[in-house]
Amino acid sequence: QPTLDTDQEQILRDNLDHTLFSWSKQAGLNPISAERAEGVYLWDRDGKRYIDFSSQLMNVNIGHGDQRVTEAVAAQMRELSYVYPGMITKARGDLGRKLNDITPANLTKAFFTLGGAEAIENAVKLARIYTGRHKIVSLYLSFHGASYGAISVGGDPRKFAVDSQAMPGTVHVENPYAYRCPWHSTTPEECAQRAADAMERIIGYENPGSVAAIILEGESGTSGCIKYPPGYWKRVREICDKNGILLIADEVMSGFGRTGKWFGSDHHGVKVDIMCMAKGITAGYLPLGAVMVDEAISKSFDNKPLPLGLTYSAHPVSCAAAVAVLDIYEEDNLLENTVEMGRYLDQRVAEMMTRHPSIGDWRNTGLFGCLELVKNRATKEPLAPWNATPDQMGVMNQVMAKIKELGMYTFVRWNYIFICPPLSITRDELDEGLAIIAEALKIADAATH
Ligand code: PLP
Repeated sequence: QPTLDTDQEQILRDNLDHTLFSWSKQAGLNPISAERAEGVYLWDRDGKRYIDFSSQLMNVNIGHGDQRVTEAVAAQMRELSYVYPGMITKARGDLGRKLNDITPANLTKAFFTLGGAEAIENAVKLARIYTGRHKIVSLYLSFHGASYGAISVGGDPRKFAVDSQAMPGTVHVENPYAYRCPWHSTTPEECAQRAADAMERIIGYENPGSVAAIILEGESGTSGCIKYPPGYWKRVREICDKNGILLIADEVMSGFGRTGKWFGSDHHGVKVDIMCMAKGITAGYLPLGAVMVDEAISKSFDNKPLPLGLTYSAHPVSCAAAVAVLDIYEEDNLLENTVEMGRYLDQRVAEMMTRHPSIGDWRNTGLFGCLELVKNRATKEPLAPWNATPDQMGVMNQVMAKIKELGMYTFVRWNYIFICPPLSITRDELDEGLAIIAEALKIADAATH
């Protein structure tokens, strides 16, 4: 064993030699060694500062290091750290009431999980039990979590690794992806109608009486912020009503102010029967997820047992963190700030598009934005292909390296650069981050033709 001369090396070796990293080849990793974080910034152990332009995994919505959450968590732990989910606690009740306040009126009760994937698993289970049907319809360009059921419901290629063992009963349809509409269409609205028509036809072929639920991300996230054109949700709700199908909104990434409203689906004026949430519910300070259900669904279990359960359901400390975080959204006017900063961001990116030919499309709602990079604006040839492996990323690898070198952490996937900073961000901080992206885009621009 060579002697390790610094703490830094010891930390690096312990992490790389004894822990596994998600979605990556384990050899050759070069992760940031995070030491501390505050607001929109985080620092590594060498003291280098990074501006966090994706709120980590689009979850640290209130920003890093907020001591109001620390205090709430510490106070809860001093009083009571854990009781089994059959007992009541103040934190659990407070959180249930607050969620009831901020979600649409028909969603009255929450079942608490540990994160997003578990929320999806439990929503699918409930929808199947409630309807007595088994099929779940979802979009190809979507992600709903990495556990077996959730990854099968999602269409994201991360499921390829477990395709042969996928949960049965999943049916996928194409997105209303207006920038690359799979059907001939001249407007986003037309693309939405054609996508909904296709969904309706496929549900017909699949036997509408076998479909328990349609699940949509409240707003599309890791598939590239593929915005729903006007009219799409309304048509999906009509398909549900016509066929006795439940509508599930997966608000795990799009919830809690990310889009400038509490939930992404709030933009579409449509009633959902089940809402899944996680991430922003605690802004990442502790793990927590929730499934909020329509009153008719919760009442159906008034006189029969609810067949769901987790040791850590409604964990008092996670609930206390969530209550503190929900207060912060309100106290700091974070939804209002998201709308204002989102408008500013849209203006700034529109200016950038005049200078950077590699930006093919910009899709944003609030602070849930994605730059789609292309080699050529006319042909829309992507700068890296869909589902590119690291060796197929070409010039995108250099763009990512530049972003990191210049002191930014953000989520980059294939030809997408995500701009989803904490909702507390200021204009100056946005400018600072956009200057880094603009510099990195020079590399992408040089590869356009
Ligand atoms: N649903 C959506 C829309 C997501 O983006 C994610 C994670 O990124 C999940 C579900 C899964 O959440 P978790 O990673 O907490 O299991």
